[in-house]
Amino acid sequence: MGNRRPLIAGNWKMHTTVVDGCRLALDLAKGWQSKEDREVLVAPPFTILSEVAHVLEGSAIMVAAQNVCWEEKGAFTGEISPTMVRDAGGRAAIVGHSERRQLFGESDALVNRRLRGALAFGLMGILCIGETLEEREQERTFAVLSQQVERGLEGVSAAEMARVVVAYEPVWAIGTGRTASKEQAQEAHAFIRGVLAKKFEKSVAEQTRILYGGSVKPTNIDELMRQPDIDGALVGGAALEAESFLRIIHFQ
Ligand code: PEP
Repeated sequence: MGNRRPLIAGNWKMHTTVVDGCRLALDLAKGWQSKEDREVLVAPPFTILSEVAHVLEGSAIMVAAQNVCWEEKGAFTGEISPTMVRDAGGRAAIVGHSERRQLFGESDALVNRRLRGALAFGLMGILCIGETLEEREQERTFAVLSQQVERGLEGVSAAEMARVVVAYEPVWAIGTGRTASKEQAQEAHAFIRGVLAKKFEKSVAEQTRILYGGSVKPTNIDELMRQPDIDGALVGGAALEAESFLRIIHFQ
C-alpha cells in the first residue's frame, strides 16, 4: 500500500463574485483546523484566485486554478499561464474536467499539454478523466479510462507523478445528483491504479492519489472514503456552501 494523504478539492466552477468567494473562503478558513492526515484545496474562478488565496493565507487550504495554459506567456488570448496562477497564489491546476472536454472540445492531447505545462512550472496537476453514460452502457468504461490515462499522462515522468493527482469523475454523475455506488467507484479506481502500475511502476501507482468526483455530498463522503482506492474527492455543487464542504472535509 502507498502512503497516500487524502485530498478533498472543491471546484467552484463559474460561480462566486469577489464578495461571495471571499466570504466562502473565510468561512472555510474559520471552520477548518489543519489536520496532518488530509489536504484541502479550492479552485475558484480565475477572477478571484488572488483574493481567495489572500483570504486563505496561513489556513492550510490550498488554492488551485480550474484550468491552465501550457505556455508561460505570449499571444494566447483568453488563457492563463501556470506562472500567472502561481503569482496569484495558486499551487495546483485542474485539467481535463469533463465540462472542458464536452463543452469546449478539449481533447486528450490538449489536456496533456495543459498538464505538462502545469508540471513544468511547478504546479500540482489534477487530471480529470471519466466515461459518459453511453460509454458505460456500451461497456467501454475501462477502455475509455485507460485511453484517457495513457494519453493524458504521455510524456509525464515517474518523478513528476509525485505532483499529479488523478480525478475519476464519471460524466453521468457530475451535477446530476447521481453518485456512482461505492462499488462502482472502487472498481474504477482500482482499474486506474492498475493502468498507472503498467505505465510507470507499482510504486508510482501506489503513491498516486485518485480522487472520486460526481455528486459527492456530506451524506456519501464517509462511505466513499472507506474504499481502499479512493484517496479523496473532487466536489462541485457541495463545495459552494461552507457548511456542506466543511462536513465533507471532516469526513470520517
Ligand atoms: C465537479 O465539478 O467536478 C463535480 C464533481 O461536480 P458535482 O459535485 O456537482 O457533481
